[in-house]
Parts: sequence; structure tokens; C-alpha cells
Amino acid sequence: MTDTPAFDFNAFADLPILDGHIHVWADLDPELLWQTLERTGARRCNALSLSQLPIPEGVPSQLNTQALRFKQVSHGRAFAFGALDYSSGSFAPADLVAQAQQLDAQGFDGIKMWEGKPSMNVHLPGRLESELYAPYWQWMESRGMPITMHMADPLRFWDPARAGLERWSYGGEKFLSRDEMYAETERILNRHPHLKIIFAHFLFFWDNLPRASQFLNAHPAVALDLTPGVGGFLELSETRDAAREFFLRYQDRLIYGTDVGAGPVVDPAVPFEPMRESGQAWLVRAFLETDWAMPLPAGVGAVTALFTGKCLRGIALPRAVLEKIYWQNFERLVGTTPRMIHL
Ligand SMILES: [Zn+2]
Repeated sequence: MTDTPAFDFNAFADLPILDGHIHVWADLDPELLWQTLERTGARRCNALSLSQLPIPEGVPSQLNTQALRFKQVSHGRAFAFGALDYSSGSFAPADLVAQAQQLDAQGFDGIKMWEGKPSMNVHLPGRLESELYAPYWQWMESRGMPITMHMADPLRFWDPARAGLERWSYGGEKFLSRDEMYAETERILNRHPHLKIIFAHFLFFWDNLPRASQFLNAHPAVALDLTPGVGGFLELSETRDAAREFFLRYQDRLIYGTDVGAGPVVDPAVPFEPMRESGQAWLVRAFLETDWAMPLPAGVGAVTALFTGKCLRGIALPRAVLEKIYWQNFERLVGTTPRMIHL
């Protein structure tokens, strides 16, 4: 047993939520995952596969089959995004296009890219803006196939003084700087302005709303998802009024997500623990729906307890805005119903 509190979702609105960002993992139990999602208020979800580099030992290199199976047994309630497979070790640009075409043919609704996570990015066979990826971006853009993309990370991970304190640390020279990652992202989007990319975790602009505004204004086809970043919601809380104004202004560009399932994906030794996994959903919903000002309870956050006790302040969005963030924006970008599967 753990001492994780049972997060109470009763204070929140009864809305048919679509969780736009959850994970499948190696020994996933679909029924347990759905029970957990339903507790958080989600009636539909988008199940993400993931590829990792270096390829972890003893773990399937990517989780595409698992994501498709979950979609199949979910009977229309689950979308699924596949991931590119790097296990062959050598690539030509055409291979990535062929992989995207195959994922499309199998009935994936989009592609999940962890390739912008610095720990994976540093091991890619080529830069994301290089000739290797150019035909892939081109194909995804012309096909209109959506992407959920993890790009960058919290700034503290680049602080050499924090090396070893958390799971990730990008102090060494081999990693791109955070600014360089953003600059590369801008260059790719400028070349492919119709790419439908949902940037995960608010693109880590939590502490810089003016920058988030600039980015969304410059790239009208993209969206940001609200998957924690637990620390991000506390940073938004610090600028509560500006945050509320931002969420109202960009209400068509924001997508609800929670990272349920991320625990066992990030560390397969960690079993899926429903109470812990639902903590992040509670955090996002408390922020969006309530006007609470309260210390962050223990147990929120799959990977760190760094923020327990800090002040969480809600922005109490109107119902019509919640409806956009909870499912309408996702449906507009990805589709109203999951595509047919061809296994
Ligand atoms: Zn995730």
C-alpha cells in the first residue's frame, strides 16, 4: 500500500472528457486503465505509443501493437497515435515516410513523437530539421496526419548544479540547449506551416506566457496540450490572472491531457498505480475548473514530489471553454471518431 491520497473528482463538472494524452505500456491491463480514466471523468482518450532511444533493454522498442490492441478493445472510445521505429539502426529519409504510411494504413489516428525529448533527441540518427526528416514532415503535412510531440523540457533539467537530482539532466555539451530546440522547432514549422502538431506539456512555456502567445500566433496550425508538468501548473498559479486571460484568449488552441500510464512507461519496474496516476488529472481539472487556492497535495506527479505544498490556484474557466479544452479542440484537429483499425 502507498499513502497516496484518493483524489476527489466530485467537485468537478460532469462533462464527457476526452483525455488527449495517455500512455500504453508493456503489460497494460485495458480494464484497469479504463477504470482509472473513468474515475478522472474521461469517457474517451488518445492512447500514445512511444519510441525511446537508446532502445531500453528487455522492453519492446515501441508500443504500437499495444496501442492498437487497446484501441480495438475500447470500441470507439480510444484514438491511438503510433510511434516511429528506430530498432533497425539505419535509415534513409524514405524509410520514415514508409513508416508513417504504414501507421496510417494500420488505422493510427496520428503519430506520437518523443523525438524532441532531449534524452532521446541526442540519440536520433539525424537532426529533426535535417534531410533525414524533411520528407517525413512533408508527407505528414500534406496528409494532414496529426502529431503529438514532446519538445524540450523544464529549464531546470539543463542546470548542471541539479545533475543527479532527478531522472533527467542535460548538463553536458552533447545536448542541444533549450533555446536551440525551440529555434529548430520554429524552423521546421516555418518550412511546414500546415503541420498539425499538438505540443505536449504546453511546450514547457508554463513560466513564459508571452512566449507561448508569440508561438501560437506565429503557427496557427499547432496546439498545446495541458499534460503536466506538475511544476508548470504551479508556475501558472503564480500568474493566475494572466494565466486565466491566456486560457480565454487561446481557448481554441489548448487540449486536455494527463499522462495517465506514463509511470510504467518511463520506468517499467514501477507498476501502474491507479491512485497515483489519477493525481495529474485531478491537478489539471482543479486548475481549469475551480477558484481554489490551496497547497498542492502529496502524491500528484508521476516522477517527482518536488512541488508538494506549493500553492495551486484555479482559473475557473466557463463551461463553454472547458468543452473546447476537454474534447472539441482535439476533435477538430484529429477527428470526431477514431479511425478504423487494419491489423
Ligand atoms: Zn506523455
